Amino acid sequence: MQENQYTKRELTQLQALPFEEKVKLSRARIREWIDAYDGKVYVSYSGGKDSTVLLHLVRQIAPEVPAVFSNTGLEYPEVRTFAEQMGVTIIRPPKTFAEVVREEGYPILSKNIASAILQARKFDMTGKNRRYMTGDFRVMRKDGSLGRSMFDKSKWQRLAELGDFRISDRCCNRMKKQPMRKFEREHGLHPMLGTMAEEGRLRERAWLLHGCNAFDARHAVSTPLAFWRETDVLRYIRVMHLPIASVYGEIIEDPNCKNCLKLTGVDRTGCVFCGFGAHMEHEGRYLRLRETHPRLYRYCMEGGHFVDNPDYDPSIPETATDGFRNFNPKQLWEPDNRGLGMGYVFETVNRLYGKTLIPYK
Ligand code: SF4
Repeated sequence: MQENQYTKRELTQLQALPFEEKVKLSRARIREWIDAYDGKVYVSYSGGKDSTVLLHLVRQIAPEVPAVFSNTGLEYPEVRTFAEQMGVTIIRPPKTFAEVVREEGYPILSKNIASAILQARKFDMTGKNRRYMTGDFRVMRKDGSLGRSMFDKSKWQRLAELGDFRISDRCCNRMKKQPMRKFEREHGLHPMLGTMAEEGRLRERAWLLHGCNAFDARHAVSTPLAFWRETDVLRYIRVMHLPIASVYGEIIEDPNCKNCLKLTGVDRTGCVFCGFGAHMEHEGRYLRLRETHPRLYRYCMEGGHFVDNPDYDPSIPETATDGFRNFNPKQLWEPDNRGLGMGYVFETVNRLYGKTLIPYK
């Protein structure tokens, strides 16, 4: 396993820097990235507030650096309209979200969980990966006793066995990564992203491994805002009077946090229909979508139908030797022309777990 170049403590120290210092440091990282590749770089632009801040910083330093927006059809309409006005190059993935869900599966819970379910459902799967799902993988504690692995996903075994729809983590690859990588290859450019370490474990891990400018990563990428906090992004927008998509609402002082800012509208504008993280939210994103964008909500929840499972194999035993109930439904639920059918997916998850894990209606 690759060694971290930085420590959590170093990240915390950077995250605690005064706002002006962060801006200076990010400018230096951007300059470094542009110089390293002799200007052959670009901003991967989502139309969201974080990448809007990055784009502004980059254009102050090097206005000629291009920005690219992947129009996946999954953005809020307000974000798409906003992005189109920013003078960016627009690319499109070759397939729609509904087509990708049909081919790969629904992106629900989290990338890690969806990936674990996808792996565990393979008939020939044995050993380590399946053990994460069945809970049989144990790690040795310092005192010599056996404990659960941090990668244990056994909570989701029931869904992996009984959910009659595909689940996978491949949507991002198909809808975002592959089109961007194709653009990079065709133009020989190196990407800059407006992501932050505080957004999740994978992003924090990436920073600890490589820092802001990941020259040594398998896919070299720059994240000059990695050590920023959400409130720094909002402060920058306020100080610089940057326009942002209307769906965010206004930036106001956060009454529950000293020196913090917050938004009155949505705080995340990623893909509207994405199910990743929806089970972790106090205030369900889909309930909000129902209020703000009822037509999109209906498309997301309604529709869907069962089709014959092309991989169904009557010779496969119901239960594998490790006790895992093989995933071999005769029919599979998938999107249809009327909608994505995510209402059925969420209803199934909530029913299997006996509570409202994903609030959606
Ligand atoms: S964020 Fe979710 S919906 Fe958007 S591309 Fe990634 S997995 Fe798909």
